[in-house]
Amino acid sequence: MTVELVCVGTELLLGNIVNTNAAYMAEKCAMLGLSMYYQSVVGDNPERLKELLEMAKKRSDIIILCGGLGPTQDDLTKETATKVTGKTLVEDAQARQEIETFLTKRGRKITENNWKQALVPEGSKVLYNPNGTAPGIIMEDENTQMILLPGPPNELIPMFEEQVYPYLNQLQPEIICSKMVKLCGIGESAAETEILDLIEKQDNPTVAPYAKTGEVHLRLTARAESKEKAFAMIEPLERELYHRFGSKIYTDDESITLEMAVAQLLAKYHLTVTTAESCTGGLLAGRLINVPGISENLKEGYITYSNEAKEKLLGVSHDTLEQHGAVSEETVLEMAKGGAAAANADICVSISGIAGPDGGTKEKPVGLVYMCCYCKGKTYVERNLYTGNRSKVREYAVASALTLLRDAILKEVES
Ligand code: ATP
Repeated sequence: MTVELVCVGTELLLGNIVNTNAAYMAEKCAMLGLSMYYQSVVGDNPERLKELLEMAKKRSDIIILCGGLGPTQDDLTKETATKVTGKTLVEDAQARQEIETFLTKRGRKITENNWKQALVPEGSKVLYNPNGTAPGIIMEDENTQMILLPGPPNELIPMFEEQVYPYLNQLQPEIICSKMVKLCGIGESAAETEILDLIEKQDNPTVAPYAKTGEVHLRLTARAESKEKAFAMIEPLERELYHRFGSKIYTDDESITLEMAVAQLLAKYHLTVTTAESCTGGLLAGRLINVPGISENLKEGYITYSNEAKEKLLGVSHDTLEQHGAVSEETVLEMAKGGAAAANADICVSISGIAGPDGGTKEKPVGLVYMCCYCKGKTYVERNLYTGNRSKVREYAVASALTLLRDAILKEVES
């Protein structure tokens, strides 16, 4: 089946808001195995929307609209879509009741135009909205399904997850299941090269790489009559990926992040860790602290931005800083050893680099970042050169540091 997205709103056309709903819904439709050939943005203009919907009806099986379901005069998505399908609007008693409850609960005054939102095309399926006043709508005729959704993402996403996704899923004769395998310590092109043969001959199941900051995610998707069969088809492909990438795969659970995988290792081996950060200024500690329960393993972290702080808090020698500079192998090595000693931790990860935009030289350009992991007496140093602006360099450095930390634990403790 084919699906098409139509996002309504002059704000989107003017670039005042980013069309995150389109990105979200496109990804979900791809997961469902629906083919999407068109996405459009149209302003709050009924003539242009009508023209677009008439064309979409000719070329797509399913049309998903979002935005313009509000109570005001310029919210005309529902009225226009109803006209295009030749239906009429009727009041839905439950929608009216829910709008009233929603507004009174919040102490908001009900105005006459609020009741406009209780009108739905005759014979349509109403998607009740616990997070706002505009219900969603599914209209079906012999050729097309038209799905109308509210614009605010906090209303659209739960409605999509809970009501639209299952509806779209049951329209398909087969079930689509997918699994995400996440890798660290490898770039997207290297990962893709490693599995080029699998990508080239893929049909069912498929494997699709997604580049993330310092990580690569591979989505494995299979289509079958049942969930069990789909996952059984994914299994040999996943095994093959483990065979090729080994310990670079940090999880096959979509909900696990890199910091969670690292935290699980720290907890498993009862290791304590500390951080000694310069250019990342606490971002590494912040990523670790994203994980609930990390207080058992991370007791403290150091932000040592100046040379003075590196000497005072981590015991980096004045001579090292003078001779090699703050961004050097020697400095990160002393930072990591000193940090572990100061915090009395098993492990310390240190980072020092030039995030830019200024401060680079020919020998030490912007984007150069040294890092070290001290792990139970052993040290692992890495030199990386990143491209991108200041925040990108810092984000990449943190992802590499988490990978370095994970690798050090795997080498020291798991081997
Ligand atoms: P409401 O019921 O709140 O009136 P609506 O269905 O009429 O919602 P719009 O008025 O079109 O939706 O948009 C409301 C807000 O939702 C926008 O100001 C914007 O913040 C957000 N929004 C709308 N469309 C999108 C989109 N495509 N992507 C991301 N955010 C969006």
